[in-house]
Amino acid sequence: MTQMLLSELTTAAVGGPAGNYVEARTEAEIIDAVRSADAAGEKLLIIGGGSNLLISDDGFPGTVVKIASEGFAVNSEDSCGGVSVVVQAGHNWDALVEHSVLHAWSGLEALSGIPGATGATPVQNVGAYGADVSQTIAAVRTWDRERNAVQTFTNSELKFGYRESILKQTTVEGSPRYVVLTVEFQLPLGRMSAPVRYAELARALGVEAGKRAYSNDVRREVLRLRGSKGMVLDAADRDTYSTGSFFTNPIVPADQAAGLPENAPKYPAGSDGLVKLSAAWLIDQAGFGKGFGLEESSVSGGRASLSTKHTLAITNRGSASAEDMLAIAREVRAGVVERFGIELHPEPLLIGVNL
Ligand SMILES: Cc1cc2nc3c(=O)[nH]c(=O)nc-3n(C[C@H](O)[C@H](O)[C@H](O)COP(=O)(O)OP(=O)(O)OC[C@H]3O[C@@H](n4cnc5c(N)ncnc54)[C@H](O)[C@@H]3O)c2cc1C
Repeated sequence: MTQMLLSELTTAAVGGPAGNYVEARTEAEIIDAVRSADAAGEKLLIIGGGSNLLISDDGFPGTVVKIASEGFAVNSEDSCGGVSVVVQAGHNWDALVEHSVLHAWSGLEALSGIPGATGATPVQNVGAYGADVSQTIAAVRTWDRERNAVQTFTNSELKFGYRESILKQTTVEGSPRYVVLTVEFQLPLGRMSAPVRYAELARALGVEAGKRAYSNDVRREVLRLRGSKGMVLDAADRDTYSTGSFFTNPIVPADQAAGLPENAPKYPAGSDGLVKLSAAWLIDQAGFGKGFGLEESSVSGGRASLSTKHTLAITNRGSASAEDMLAIAREVRAGVVERFGIELHPEPLLIGVNL
């Protein structure tokens, strides 16, 4: 075990020291590390790519297990059933997406460029550009810490929702009941993408929304669009030192949505007449433009700010603490409540800190 600064493991580059630190490179090592920490009664934090975590400057006073298992195995591949691929939890997500596009496995292309490890993708049902992993995950194999046994969930048992799953619901302060070991995807074979559901992406591809395009074109355009918003990691670009979107898009009853200005983006969200709003739009219209917080006089002293490319990401400009990032988040959240009466909720897991 080695002393590790968690700011070195998170994309926001924020977080104090880990009490204990274990890097687990195989499934057996993951189970071993988790069982040892549990047997010793230590607090446990599971970390993949660290791209959806905001960790206290005081660090984490228990055991931090970094999931570093890599590789995938093809279970079956044929033109009828498509490909069934079982991916180790620590395998880099975008490397899997790139491989899928190169090998004509369809369905992951719109999720190009999302940082982190594959094992975290079912946790918050990772999604972007009209796709999410609930559309392609067949099963997730986990270590159940309560029962001390392996537990496999089928897609429907995972209770996927918008940035939600049973895995997230049973996670407390980054300490999950179920530690993901492998994720199985079921993907159709073919060079064409899944239907392109997101209007901005469809426009960029020159196809009608709902139609298919070549998967490699979808990947290229998604990476270009994401890059223009600072949503692809780039060590040279401070706008990408973030947790991605800091707030989820609020889902509100229709009458609350009706009270918003005519031009506010509104999308149907499920069968109960609920409406999904754009958090980025609400933030911008509440007076927090791109780069808000960069001034030295701001609540964070200019150390943290909204991205200069997107109002939904809170970024570390070089020496931000977790509290600097949260100071921006609090100001934005309060401003949106004041202007629109709508409360924003954080997307990343907050470890040892509160918003
Ligand atoms: C620039 C940028 C862009 C982003 N864009 C998107 C986007 O478009 N869409 C989107 O949905 N997200 C996006 N994110 C958020 C993030 O990348 C995803 O949520 C990603 O899946 C997190 O993976 P990770 O391995 O980094 O997880 P971590 O940040 O390491 O962990 C996140 C949570 O998952 C848990 N976890 C991790 N691995 C396991 C495991 N094996 N078993 C059980 N629990 C586990 C952790 O305990 C923690 O609670 C973005 C982030 C950044 C920085």
